[in-house]
Amino acid sequence: MANTFRNQFTVTPQVLKVSEEEKRIIIHARQGHGRKLLDMVSSYRLIAMYQPVPGENRKWLKTLPEGKLKRLPNGDLELYARLPKEGEYTLYLEKAAGEGDAAEVMTFAVYALKKDLFDLRPWKGDFHIHSSESDGKETPEFVMATCRRDGFDFMALTDHHQYAPSLAAQKAACECNCDMLVLPGEEVHLPGNAPHIINFGGNRSINELAHRDEEKYRRESMEYAKTLPENMDSINRFEIGASEWAFDRIREAGGVAMFCHPYWHWQYHNYVDEEVIDHLLDHNRFDVLEVFGGMSKQQIEMNMLAMHRWQEERAKGKIIPAAGVSDGHGCDTSVSNWYYTVIFAEKLEFPLLAEAIRADRCVGVHRLPGEHPLLAGNFRLCKFTYFLFREFYPRHDEICHLEGTIMRSYYSEGSINAPEVISSLSGAVASFMRSFWEEN
Ligand SMILES: [Zn+2]
Ligand SMILES: [Zn+2]
Repeated sequence: MANTFRNQFTVTPQVLKVSEEEKRIIIHARQGHGRKLLDMVSSYRLIAMYQPVPGENRKWLKTLPEGKLKRLPNGDLELYARLPKEGEYTLYLEKAAGEGDAAEVMTFAVYALKKDLFDLRPWKGDFHIHSSESDGKETPEFVMATCRRDGFDFMALTDHHQYAPSLAAQKAACECNCDMLVLPGEEVHLPGNAPHIINFGGNRSINELAHRDEEKYRRESMEYAKTLPENMDSINRFEIGASEWAFDRIREAGGVAMFCHPYWHWQYHNYVDEEVIDHLLDHNRFDVLEVFGGMSKQQIEMNMLAMHRWQEERAKGKIIPAAGVSDGHGCDTSVSNWYYTVIFAEKLEFPLLAEAIRADRCVGVHRLPGEHPLLAGNFRLCKFTYFLFREFYPRHDEICHLEGTIMRSYYSEGSINAPEVISSLSGAVASFMRSFWEEN
């Protein structure tokens, strides 16, 4: 259920641990109109979204016991709620409406999680995006700033053939004292190999490794291809071997290996042969599949095909984590925030993010401007992620947007002293997150 009063109130906490105990929730009116609405509330009910309710029509609301309600000296509303099962609950605040009846004043949403998921936090980011150091439009610094503006907690710049631009983006975030985690990365293009591969967070360049000793790379790639059927097309054989060589080298460098845009059409044909796609998915040697991405705004069909294929592979019982990434080639002219990934990990640290991706604790997001998000990930996480989109991200993104806008200005006109201003904003996302989740 949508919280139509989100901007006028804060509900603390909004994510709680599943428990038989009653938990204290505080509703705070941020603005004048909200305070007047709180004055009207005389009772409340708690409605569990995924549990059956007795009765006909709206009568069932009345079968739920009324809770304890108190107005605190500072004007906040205090109430107690018991959330014994995982899922979303609606806080239904009502006023007396004559003859023992009650009418709705407003509703809020809270979510209860079992301990394993309650202990994790969602981290939103992009790990496939380009700068002017390859064929993107803006500098690494500006791309980094735009990722923050778009509400990301982490990002990795991944220029074609190059690792160094990602380090420049990292340095810029550090210079600005930005809380966003900026990681190294590159899009790996190997000699004689069509599939595109992302090295996300690896501590060295796999492009360089292949080019430094190309003969060795080719020899080792053929070793990987040894087990493939003899009658297979020789180019496809090599491509499967080379891609798997790259997946393993990325992991050796501590990175996450992503098989990119499998259904990217280029010059009237699919860039990667279907036989190669079949084998790479079958062997499942990469860490994550790019299900949503977009080099241009016209490539929705490519994403839908990738999603249907991903679903079909999952139906076979395979664990293939899904990612959404922009593959942006221009922050303002291409796609920079339509596709991204939410990763569920204890902390915003790369080893934990990498571990979470491999454990399938990530959700790929496809969100076209003005449209409802489309998600790819395991069902339990998707369910919670939709709640986060409604309840958590609007304010989270507002904080990031401010920081990103200041950095974009700093890296284009130099008009604002970003390092100083961003320092003063430091910790704002973390503090909002702390208030949104129940204290451990
Ligand atoms: Zn690519
Ligand atoms: Zn790319």
